[in-house]
Amino acid sequence: MTLRSLLDEHRGEELDLYARTINPQFVRLLRTIGFDRRWARAEGAYLYDADGTRFLDLLGGFGIYNVGRNNPRIRAALVEALELDTPGKVQLGVSALPGLLAKALLERAPSSLGRVLFTSSGTEAVEGALKLGRAATGRSKVVSCEHGFHGLTLGSLSAAGDAVFSERFGPLLPGFSRVPFDDLEALEAALRGQDVAVFIVEPVQGHGPHFPSDGYLEGAQELCRRYGTLFCVDEVQTGFGRTGRMFALDHWGLEPDLLTVAKSLSGGYVPVGALLMSRAVCDAVFDSLEHSVSHGSTFAPNDLAMAAGLATLEELDSERLPEQAARMGELLLERTRPLVERYEVVKNVRGLGLIWAIEFQEPDGGSRSWRMLERVQTGLFAQLVVMPLFDRHKILTQVAGHDSNVIKILPPLVLSEDDVDWFVEALDATLSRAEKLPRAMVRFAIKAARANRPRHGFFSKTGSSRA
Ligand code: PMP
Repeated sequence: MTLRSLLDEHRGEELDLYARTINPQFVRLLRTIGFDRRWARAEGAYLYDADGTRFLDLLGGFGIYNVGRNNPRIRAALVEALELDTPGKVQLGVSALPGLLAKALLERAPSSLGRVLFTSSGTEAVEGALKLGRAATGRSKVVSCEHGFHGLTLGSLSAAGDAVFSERFGPLLPGFSRVPFDDLEALEAALRGQDVAVFIVEPVQGHGPHFPSDGYLEGAQELCRRYGTLFCVDEVQTGFGRTGRMFALDHWGLEPDLLTVAKSLSGGYVPVGALLMSRAVCDAVFDSLEHSVSHGSTFAPNDLAMAAGLATLEELDSERLPEQAARMGELLLERTRPLVERYEVVKNVRGLGLIWAIEFQEPDGGSRSWRMLERVQTGLFAQLVVMPLFDRHKILTQVAGHDSNVIKILPPLVLSEDDVDWFVEALDATLSRAEKLPRAMVRFAIKAARANRPRHGFFSKTGSSRA
């Protein structure tokens, strides 16, 4: 059997097979919003369906494809790693690739960070930060931000800023509390007791997205220092060029004690995450022979993940992808700002590098159709834009977060000016239709939302739970 023959034999069965063996509700969701395509191949910022139609991928796999899909440099590095028959995981022994990737990461990170713990996902990197932060400080409390997102395992979930992710999965860990994002007074009140181990924050909150005011992150770092709390920046989504710098923290010159990364370090191929930490944290936790293996995971760091990470860092540097993200992000803002004037339903557009969003609002003077949609579910208007963008204009986008009327994109950083034009023109055309809220559209949306509605609404959950 070859993979090719296996795939040929089952061509066209992917959705039914997935529904039968993995998750029928997810397939139902794809069918309801018309995202039930049969995907055939991918390259850079494009996906091709089984008919050969090209789609512009502005989701970027929820931010794992910063270097583009099927990037040849990463693929070549992986093939080379396979052909080298590297020693792999010796477990009671080490190989060179993990040390080399750790070195490459530390060279690009702030000087406050001196050691690396590898993981296989973002949430595991966060778990590491929470556990090691507790051991290093001898404190147990953790403070996070409202609307923050750090992953779906129980520790990360305990730090989540929206209850919608944790309902039904409790009880969560004790000692966790939340403060509003961008509020230094609230943070100081939470840290003042000098009993908080870790303050964890995304520099740009992915679920929103919400951008920090000037001085907020620097102020948060300063408060953490003052009260002996470890400052943990979660860059699982914002890292590796996404915001126009290698790490988002570079915009503000932050020097955290803990930094979590994952997603795009994989080159889109092999899952990998990392917790970068200060030497002080590392030495406090791994402080003796007895504690030399206090935390870890069997498969991290494996050679293929390390090879993908090394090739990804090289690709980001040599193709100057953070700079490209900065340029394309500026262009996108410049081209989409006029939509705020042009359409009453557009409340604002916002972005930093290639994390970009458009927020909708009820048109001036009120709209009956809008209110009907909102009554059924917040975010339904945004979904009425996402669907034609996909179906008619062949562009993948998503509704951001729960209970929001926001569309958010996280495209591969290889996005071109032509791609930006494609998106802006499609958005303009879609908004001019959607703003009028044609009756048929409203009826369809309400019917679909009602038919599928679980307790928290339906459409706004499409893909938002992990990005
Ligand atoms: N932290 C942040 C900021 C994230 O955006 C995510 C995933 N969207 C995670 C952690 C969790 O990463 P993973 O899905 O790899 O566990």
